[in-house]
Amino acid sequence: MNSISNPYPRLFEPLDLGFTTLKNRVLMGSMHTGLEDIPGSHERMAAFYGERAKGGVALIVTGGFMPSEYCLPPGEEPIFKDPAQIEKHRLITNAVHEHDGKICLQILHTGRYARQENLIAPSAVKVPINKFVPNAATDEQIEGEIQAFVDFSVFCKKAGYDGVEIMGSEGYFLNEFIAERTNRRTDSWGGSFENRIRLPLEVVSRVRDAVGEDFIIIFRLSMLDLVEGGSNADEVVQLGQALCTAGVSIINTGIGWHEATIPTIATKVPRAAFTWVTAQFRDKLSAPVITSNRINTPDVAEEILTRGDADMVSMARPLLADAFFVSKAAANQADAINTCIACNQACLDHIFSGQISSCLVNPMACHELELQIAPSSNKKKLAVVGAGPAGLAAAVTAAECGHAVTLYDGDDKIGGQFNLAKRIPGKEEFHETLRYYQNRLDNFGVELKLSTRVTSSELNASDYDEVIVATGIEPRVPDIDGIDHPSVLGYVDVISGKVSVGERVAIIGAGGIGFDAAEFLSHAGEATSQNIPAFMQEWGIDMDLKARAGVEGVEANITPSPRTIYLCQRKPEGLGKTLGKTTGWIHRIGLVKKGIKMLAGCQYVRIDDQGLHVLVNNEPRTLEIDNVVVCAGQEPLRELTEGLTRPYHLIGGADVAAELDAKRAIDQGTRLAVEL
Ligand code: FAD
Ligand code: NAP
Ligand code: SF4
Repeated sequence: MNSISNPYPRLFEPLDLGFTTLKNRVLMGSMHTGLEDIPGSHERMAAFYGERAKGGVALIVTGGFMPSEYCLPPGEEPIFKDPAQIEKHRLITNAVHEHDGKICLQILHTGRYARQENLIAPSAVKVPINKFVPNAATDEQIEGEIQAFVDFSVFCKKAGYDGVEIMGSEGYFLNEFIAERTNRRTDSWGGSFENRIRLPLEVVSRVRDAVGEDFIIIFRLSMLDLVEGGSNADEVVQLGQALCTAGVSIINTGIGWHEATIPTIATKVPRAAFTWVTAQFRDKLSAPVITSNRINTPDVAEEILTRGDADMVSMARPLLADAFFVSKAAANQADAINTCIACNQACLDHIFSGQISSCLVNPMACHELELQIAPSSNKKKLAVVGAGPAGLAAAVTAAECGHAVTLYDGDDKIGGQFNLAKRIPGKEEFHETLRYYQNRLDNFGVELKLSTRVTSSELNASDYDEVIVATGIEPRVPDIDGIDHPSVLGYVDVISGKVSVGERVAIIGAGGIGFDAAEFLSHAGEATSQNIPAFMQEWGIDMDLKARAGVEGVEANITPSPRTIYLCQRKPEGLGKTLGKTTGWIHRIGLVKKGIKMLAGCQYVRIDDQGLHVLVNNEPRTLEIDNVVVCAGQEPLRELTEGLTRPYHLIGGADVAAELDAKRAIDQGTRLAVEL
């Protein structure tokens, strides 16, 4: 590569590990994709990891594989016990090596997070996020688990892996031994700090003895537990140094236990929010150190490395979003990268609901074998009407398949509702998706006709072979007495800033948009997603690392809403149940801390000069407000299809508005385009 034209010199500097060299500073962090759990899915995993290796990433860590019956579903054996698995895993390692990449398998012992009855931990301390109580591991069981790490590592070497990552953070088994919070033992595995760190050290040194010197051992070290009773900074250093002596090749950073109630990777978390943590430990450790969390552009990665916060950066979800992140950065085409917006909607939320992971902005992820963009043998002339996520995905994919595409939108910019989403504090990443689509429209020669509200008669008179109708939705206007009162505003006008909003507001509807409208109206000044120190203050994290685990004794300091806001829904259940599985709690906690009043079980009686009259669980109340903001769901907008005689396809909100989100819109647009 030409170092003069390379804008990311640090990112593309090789890293010498002594016995092997990594070709750049990008590690693809471990992500459980769900493919690991499907018998016979090795070809799919090979395609998934092979594609990322082809995209230029230096070192990949697989999703976690469990080493023990105490983690796995009843009756399942760890894969290392089945010799036939060696050849199957060679499919994966060969696919990566074919593209000059390296790959480590992550060994993940879930400890007290295991979702089955027969689970073990240092002590019988239940975690609030798991209904099962762990058994305190016996000496014999501990020895068995150490041996499982060793045998698994030997299996990995035979299967062609370049190394293993030993998961020692996020509150899993090894981390549970380290922290007083979960280790209440009084034997040689508990009590003093030296005893509590014995297990991870024993695992690393015995794995090193078994695999020899020419094998990568990454240890994922929890540098900031974010839970009371976690490690303090001195303990992190002491353990990190001992791990280096025990034989690790690289130390990776873990931030926050799963049970911590602080967001660490969601879109509200500022980019590179936690690299200051790794920076405080890097100089004290002899092995190279990797930093992670919310690093999603090559510029951010380069900045981190230049500042010296770490030796390598870990990106996981950004490589779901774009397998070719690294090669695009190397070619100085950062604008062509499909950026991870940290929504969790198709990756983590899928995993927590038992589905295969994918990506909202890249539906091909984990579907590499079944969903492919290939040149079409039947080239068509297509009109796509609506440049929201559905229309954009359809237009660029169809153009990439070789169709001649014209994309219309009545608005003067592309994006549809993403132009509202990007205005919500904490959702600034949506700008990146629009930048990416604009780049693809330009590169694949889509003819873009903005400020053009096309009609069915114009389309009938044209020579398009087919029309893709992606005209989106219209907001639902609920049937409430007084809905046309001057105090009533629609969310589109409010979020786009077209109307001014008073100091006392009631929001009707607490779906994703109701929550976002509350977020929008409850902010004063800069969003904390743009400011790392402000974010840390808001969630009570000590950036000097004097507080144990970064949080003990630290008061959170959140700026209250400048407005009085009532967020209302008709259902009697708690608000926010329909929000994302892994992010809903963040929205709820954030708004409650800001003083937003959440009202469930509302019956809307009337809106008049006094305000909004409601029955809350049948008790009459008048909410004295200046404005009502309506966020009561949406209806499909497809009037274009009336009288349309050309063959057409409906996608996105124009197809089905109920439970529509951008994940479905983009997926539907992409799948339609590859099948045309
Ligand atoms: P739209 O985005 O509505 O696009 C339709 C487009 O068609 C518009 O640009 C419109 O101008 C154009 N159009 C309509 N009629 C015509 C015509 N006759 N001629 C030319 N152009 C026409 N989803 C998520 O998954 N995650 C989120 O975090 C999220 N946050 C959101 C936050 C807010 C504030 C809002 C409002 C929405 C959010 N959504 C989110 C929902 C997501 O934006 C929608 O599901 C998605 O935009 C639907 O895509 P679409 O292409 O079907 O329709
Ligand atoms: P929504 O999620 O369907 O929520 C609509 C809300 O309005 C519900 O709270 C509903 O609850 C209420 N409602 C429905 N009909 C009503 C009526 N006739 N009168 C009064 N209230 C009524 O829709 P949305 O909030 O408009 O969001 C649209 C889509 O965008 C969602 O499907 C969502 O997936 C997506 N989105 C996602 C995010 C995200 O962060 N992932 C953010 C924003 C939007 P009650 O009936 O109980 O009152
Ligand atoms: Fe990133 Fe969202 Fe894709 Fe997950 S689904 S990889 S968070 S963009």
